[in-house]
Amino acid sequence: MARKIFTFMRGASDRTADATEALGFKGANLALLASLDMPVPPGFTVSTAAWREAANLRGGLPQPLRSEINAAVEWLETVTGRKFGGNEKPLLLAVRTSARTQMPGLAETVLDVGLNDATVETVAIELDDLSFAYRSYRRFIESFAALVYDADPGAFEEIADEEAEASGRSGDPQTREEWRRLIARYHAFIEAEYDAVLPQTPLEQLSMVIEASFASWRNPVARSHRVLHGIPENAGLAVTAHAMIFNERDRNSGTGRAVSRDLRSGEPRLTGEFWLGGRERAEIGDPVGSWPLSDLIADGGRPAGDWFPADAAALAAHVRRLESHVGDAVEVDFMVGDGELFFLQSRTARRGAGEAIRVAVELVKEGLIEEEEALLRIDPASLDQLLHPTIERTTDLPIIGRGMPASPGAATGEIAFTSERAEALAAEGRPVILVRNETFPEDIHGMHVANGVLAIRGGTTSHAAVVARGIGKPCVTGVGALRINLEDETLQAPGVILRAGDMITIDGSSGEVIEGRVELKRPSLIGDFATLMDYADRARRMRVRTNAETPVEARAARAFGAEGIGLCRTEHMFFEGDRIRAMREMILAPDGDGRRLALEKLLPFQRSDFIELFEIMAGLPVTIRLLDPPLHEFLPKGDAEIAETAAMLGIEEGVLRQRIAKLEEFNPMLGHRGCRLAISYPEIAEAQARAIFEAAVEAGERAGEAVVPEIMVPLVGMRKELAFVKERIDRVAQLVAAERGRSVHYQVGSMIELPRAVVRADTIAEIADFFSFGTNDLTQTVFGISRDDAGNFLSTYYRQGIIERDPFQTVDADGVGELIALAVEKARRTRPDIQLGVCGEQGGDPASIAFFEQTGLDYVSCSPFRVPIARVAAAQSAILERRATRGGTGVKGRSRA
Ligand code: PEP
Ligand code: MG
Repeated sequence: MARKIFTFMRGASDRTADATEALGFKGANLALLASLDMPVPPGFTVSTAAWREAANLRGGLPQPLRSEINAAVEWLETVTGRKFGGNEKPLLLAVRTSARTQMPGLAETVLDVGLNDATVETVAIELDDLSFAYRSYRRFIESFAALVYDADPGAFEEIADEEAEASGRSGDPQTREEWRRLIARYHAFIEAEYDAVLPQTPLEQLSMVIEASFASWRNPVARSHRVLHGIPENAGLAVTAHAMIFNERDRNSGTGRAVSRDLRSGEPRLTGEFWLGGRERAEIGDPVGSWPLSDLIADGGRPAGDWFPADAAALAAHVRRLESHVGDAVEVDFMVGDGELFFLQSRTARRGAGEAIRVAVELVKEGLIEEEEALLRIDPASLDQLLHPTIERTTDLPIIGRGMPASPGAATGEIAFTSERAEALAAEGRPVILVRNETFPEDIHGMHVANGVLAIRGGTTSHAAVVARGIGKPCVTGVGALRINLEDETLQAPGVILRAGDMITIDGSSGEVIEGRVELKRPSLIGDFATLMDYADRARRMRVRTNAETPVEARAARAFGAEGIGLCRTEHMFFEGDRIRAMREMILAPDGDGRRLALEKLLPFQRSDFIELFEIMAGLPVTIRLLDPPLHEFLPKGDAEIAETAAMLGIEEGVLRQRIAKLEEFNPMLGHRGCRLAISYPEIAEAQARAIFEAAVEAGERAGEAVVPEIMVPLVGMRKELAFVKERIDRVAQLVAAERGRSVHYQVGSMIELPRAVVRADTIAEIADFFSFGTNDLTQTVFGISRDDAGNFLSTYYRQGIIERDPFQTVDADGVGELIALAVEKARRTRPDIQLGVCGEQGGDPASIAFFEQTGLDYVSCSPFRVPIARVAAAQSAILERRATRGGTGVKGRSRA
């Protein structure tokens, strides 16, 4: 039978490598520290395999496990020279529970297992400290009862208060008799309340604690944590028992947390804190009870303060050695008992993104790690913290709802339920959060002026989410707990009603909605940020472009290092002011001539927009996509807008309503959109092509260097669709060339966002210079899940474990990803030099970027604020890919996605 219990002591442990799944993170970490010859209290871990067996049996600990526990305790008795329940030098244990990762709801630590009515006296004599021994015993009974009987700690406190009052004192019992009376009342309470007797046999105490700790796996808090984080139900927990350290006894004891570096400067220097034990600490003049460890080591490792009760140089040396073993800044929890130092826990030092970069760059400068290693240390997604304001998380925040983290960063401001209101508030210089059920193209001006956007409905690729990310505004979508009542202008959350003008805060990085104003931390791009980005640029293979339409976005993206525009959604250029009017005129025109006339009004706007984009991108590639969305998106909504538009067009309101009704579709996402528009109304594509070519010629003349635009046709499913549109584009190019007397260079390519386009990628590639995977629509069409409605039910899918990640955020490697790989293979077969990129939201997602690297795409394109993230993620993927290839397989495997 396989062993289920693993022991550890300084210099020796049964298991260390990759042990977190078997030993829980606490047990695994103690085993690691022990194996590194760091002083740890000796002990043993009851593994997750034991938990699994007991959980399957459902009733008590199985007999073989009990025997193994007994044997482990005997071993511990031998190595400590103590006896569990002994009447001389009793062995006491601390029992800690952990799963492979931190999990709320699991059993709390139980200290001093092994104390009973007899051993408490022995300990009192051994330590010559009656009060300490009994305080420990009382605490043991309280935590044992809380864990095993689910007792309320408050009940014990009440008993203690009653006893104190009866004895006419305040605080703890003073004499042995008083202590014994209190303990007797605890026993009586447990008997009366839980019909149980507090076990006096240490082994029985231990197995009951282990059994109850096992059962804590079923705690509802733990269970919902697992669902949320996709942790399997049978992963299980482990229970670690180790010899007690009396860290709270006297000034020869204490508890500390040390970090191997000063995280702000990156310097290798012990930092952290130490809390002296015992009641004397206040007498030493330290009311708070903690000392900064940075004061501890003076020159040459000599202790600078006589307050530290252990060997300070040894502490520093151990932490330094652990750091070099891990190759990263570490943080340790340690204890001092009777002047002796013990380590209990270590982890890579927790730090914000800024500190992480600082330390990584510093480690490279010190020659401790390579640039590539430094890059791998950074969580690309965490860079967000540096690019957007974040919430100062000091106190408990009044969270009134949780939704999708749709666009990162935090924002705080007054609630505005309409874009008009948002504009009015912003004009007064007041911070605004635009709160809508969902946003529409006409909300874009409101989104621009708002500090953040809250859309009650929708997912991470809904209109609100995509636009907000594009313009770098924090956004939360799909918050089921909130309701907007537009009649009385309120936002209702369970137990709270907020009105227009009330302050609200959203965290687009976590999806939280918070009542009231919250302090925000401003973004700071420290110098090391640039250094890290240099490392990334040296390491990566894929290029990183941006999705941008406006000059503001394009400039921001350039500042973040974008290497061109991978997607310019031209429809976003038609929403503002005069443009939307001309646009409506075009859409509502009765015939082609009317449309052409209206398009002529739009031409100058578009041309100047494109010129500006070309100039900002200064020679870098710019991909401009022809109009994509269904036309009805641009139509007037509501009576007022309809009346205004009818007046502008000089037609009856009734006629206008009829024309609008004609454009209505049952399923616009699969309706008259994409290249279908260009095929029904070629004049639209022609006008756009003209604007692009004229802008390219002009920008090229100004710069003295040819601009080569890339024109992209959306929603292509058939080669003939692309051929039809390309023919129009080519014709316009010839016209412009003739008019301007100069040749016009350009490329024409296709979005790949429909399954049919994937399957026919080889034939489509014959007439395309490039492909760009539109993974938003491709995900939508492959899954048959509406990207605008997915938020409503995907959360249930996570809970039920059906999907692990939102496929609209992270590419679904097995399904959508397989199709992308197929298209890549087919396209390169007929056109080896075809340029391949991705411009869906997944293009800025680190896990997806790893997949795109493996698939061999040439570039990813993402919203401006994700460009730095994509640069680092692309670098990491390239590094890992190179290592995997060098590692001997020689194959570009996709299995790691
Ligand atoms: C896509 O579908 O992935 C895409 C980039 O286009 P849009 O989001 O504009 O439909
Ligand atoms: Mg699309």
